[in-house]
Amino acid sequence: MSNRLYYDDPALLAFDATVRACEPAADRYRLALDRTAFYPTSGGQPHDLGHLQAADRVVSISNVTSDDEEEVWHHVSEAIAPGTHVSGTIDRVRRQDFRQQHSGQHILSAAFDHVLSARTESVHLGVEDCTLDLHREVTADECRRAEDAANGVVWDNRPVSIRYADASDLAHEPRLRKITAREGRVRLIDIAGHDLSACGGTHVSTTGEVGLIAIRGTERFRGGTRVTFLAGRRALESYRALRDTADAAARTLSVAAADVPDALMRLREDLKQEQRRAMEAIERVTVLQAESLASGVDASGLLVAELPAADALALRVSASQLVAVAGRVVALISGSSPHALVIARSADRADVDAGALVRQICAAHGGKGGGRPDLAQAGGVDVTVEALRAVLKT
Ligand SMILES: [Zn+2]
Repeated sequence: MSNRLYYDDPALLAFDATVRACEPAADRYRLALDRTAFYPTSGGQPHDLGHLQAADRVVSISNVTSDDEEEVWHHVSEAIAPGTHVSGTIDRVRRQDFRQQHSGQHILSAAFDHVLSARTESVHLGVEDCTLDLHREVTADECRRAEDAANGVVWDNRPVSIRYADASDLAHEPRLRKITAREGRVRLIDIAGHDLSACGGTHVSTTGEVGLIAIRGTERFRGGTRVTFLAGRRALESYRALRDTADAAARTLSVAAADVPDALMRLREDLKQEQRRAMEAIERVTVLQAESLASGVDASGLLVAELPAADALALRVSASQLVAVAGRVVALISGSSPHALVIARSADRADVDAGALVRQICAAHGGKGGGRPDLAQAGGVDVTVEALRAVLKT
C-alpha cells in the first residue's frame, strides 16, 4: 500500500516515488506508487489532478481512486514500468480549492451544530457546488447566525491540526462532532476550540486560509435543509459574478445597484398601468369597429365579415357588441386561413342556433368548435366570407 503523504502534509505539492504496479484500466492504465501526495476521490472530496514525470516523459493524471485494500491508483494514458522512479506534481489551484471547501465545510457544520444544534447529515464537495444537509429546517436568520459564527472562526485564524487516535478511545471523546464508523487508527482534524472530526481529507493549516465562507442558498431537503455554500476563492468568484449581474441590471435601469429592486418594482407597476390602458384602447377600437361594421348589416339582419387584424377574443367582443342590437345574426372570421370564426345572434333571434351553425361549418370546412345557441366559436376553419354567407342565408 502506498504511503499517503497528504495525510500529514496537505500542503505538499511535489514528491518523488517509485512505481510499484502498473495495470490496464478503463482509462488505459493505473499506477500504484510506494508513496503519493495525490488525494484519491473519497469521503465526499474529489481527487487531485496533476502529472508524473519519469525521466524525459510527463504523464498527466486524469483520475485518482482508492480500492477496498486502501491502495491509491493513479489513472494515466501511458504505462510506466514498475521500478521506475517518478516525480509527482499536484495541481496547486485545485488542491487549494478543495482544502478551502473541505475545511470551510467542517467550520460551517460545526457552527450550525454549536449555534443552532443543527446536525450535518451528509456533505457534497463538488467541482462547482458544495452542499451540506442539516437534519432540521433552519430559517434565513438562523443561517446568517451560523454563517457569522463560521466566519468568526475563519478570521480568528485558528490552527488546524492533524492527529491520530484509536477508534475505541474515541467513544468518550466529547468534542467529536460525529461518531465515526471506522475501526482501528483514525485520523482526526482538530480546528482549535471549534471542531474535532474524523476525516481523511486535505485541510488548511490555519482557518484564515479559508478566507471566507458564504452561504449561497438553502432549500428544504428530506425534512431538513440543504445548504449550498462557497469558501475561499469560490466565494470571491461568486461575489464577482453577482456584482457584475447587479451592475449590468443597474446600468440597464439607469439607477444605483442598491436601487435595482425598487426600480424593478416601479417598472412592474408602470407595465400593469400600460397594459390596462392598452386594454381600454382595444375596447374603444372594437366598439368603433363594430359601429362601422353595423353599416354592412343587410335587410334580413345578417352580417358576414372578415376582420384582418382580429384574434378570437377581438372577434367575440365585436360580435357581442353587434348583437346587442335586436334582429341580428353576425358571423365574423379572422384575417388569414385557417380562420378563427365567431357566430352570434341577438336575443330576439331564437330562430337561429349559432352552436349548430358553427358545427355545420366545421363539418364542411374543417376546424373545431362549438358553443351556445346565442354565441359560438371555432378555430382552424378554412372558409371564405362568400361560403359563410351562403350557409347563413339558408
Ligand atoms: Zn471532512
